Amino acid sequence: MSGCEGGNCQTCQDSDRLPPGMLERYSLDVPVSSGIMVVVPVNASELPDYAAELISAASGLTDGRVYTVIFGNQDMKELYPYIFGYGTDTLYHVRGKAIGSYTPEVWADALSQISERIKPAAILIPSDKTGREFAPRLAARLKSGLTADCTGLSSDGSVLRMIRPAFSGTLMAEIECSGFPQIVTVRPGTFPRPEKRRASGTVIYWPYEGDSCKEITAETPKTDAASDIREAKVLIAIGAGVRSRSSVDDAEKLASRIPGAMVCCSRAIAERGWMPASRQVGMSGAAVKPELYIAFGISGSVQHLAGMSSSARIIAVNTDPSAPIHSCADLSILSDATQTLKELLERVS
Ligand SMILES: Cc1cc2nc3c(=O)[nH]c(=O)nc-3n(C[C@H](O)[C@H](O)[C@H](O)COP(=O)(O)OP(=O)(O)OC[C@H]3O[C@@H](n4cnc5c(N)ncnc54)[C@H](O)[C@@H]3O)c2cc1C
Repeated sequence: MSGCEGGNCQTCQDSDRLPPGMLERYSLDVPVSSGIMVVVPVNASELPDYAAELISAASGLTDGRVYTVIFGNQDMKELYPYIFGYGTDTLYHVRGKAIGSYTPEVWADALSQISERIKPAAILIPSDKTGREFAPRLAARLKSGLTADCTGLSSDGSVLRMIRPAFSGTLMAEIECSGFPQIVTVRPGTFPRPEKRRASGTVIYWPYEGDSCKEITAETPKTDAASDIREAKVLIAIGAGVRSRSSVDDAEKLASRIPGAMVCCSRAIAERGWMPASRQVGMSGAAVKPELYIAFGISGSVQHLAGMSSSARIIAVNTDPSAPIHSCADLSILSDATQTLKELLERVS
């Protein structure tokens, strides 16, 4: 467009045509087959299994290109062949001063820029700690919706269908988005792990020039080993039926006397602030399968059972014989949870 002084020529005034240099507008009818963007975290130059799953799943959902986006200033060339091997066509590697340490705002901003450029029909993000944080921010920037925590995806080549539990897991909802691009977070483990193989493709270094709105001045390693409750052989679980916070201390003392034991809780206890959320068992907490699960004062809501009913042995201590926890218990003790915990502590030394 030579001779245009900015907005006065026929092209600029034609509402169906965009001024020079601008990319075409989003169409609301872009089929899934036109391409999918996948955002994957890279930990210390390693690709987690669930990231590989997601890239491979994307390549099965579209006949178009799979664009994978990774972040990090370190050299990750060793990883590239595997990222391509899982089904990536074009890899965007975002680097820049603000990328040194993770901030959700920066990731959302960089991703919105890349999305504006490539216009994917859908953006797939793992529903891990970081994905849950930056995905809503990205959706807000792109003025689109977000289907969170999906447990299945399918496509007829045109529309992406997202499957996720609804109404406390009592039914599986199939969702189609009217917003564009369709943004989805997918629960790790949803898709089978693909075979590791090497391939080649196009790498684009994407320089992120913005600044981070936050500065990380110090990092304190998390000391709460309870994020590993999934590894425990015995779990002592505390629910709202215990009378005071001191029962949590009793449970910790008891756990310290049983090899492989840890303390966990229901959401009611995590919400009271008596235990950190990382110790919550259930649908919105951890799914556990210990050899023994002892539930003190836990009713056994469907959301709690979703996280622990596969335990090898379950003991329920609950005064109410009609509490649902008893229906999955191998041994039911109809007595006061606080007192029973105290007596058990005295006997186990
Ligand atoms: C979307 C969604 C997700 C959720 N995710 C989770 C989740 O991941 N994990 C989770 O746990 N919950 C979750 N919940 C909350 C769940 O619905 C329940 O509210 C919660 O599990 C109740 O915790 P509780 O059993 O400790 O408390 P309560 O339901 O209040 O049960 C307390 C039990 O203690 C018994 N009791 C009372 N006094 C005594 C006594 N002196 N001695 C012994 N027993 C006694 C009572 O009979 C009762 O059965 C979720 C809810 C929603 C809507």
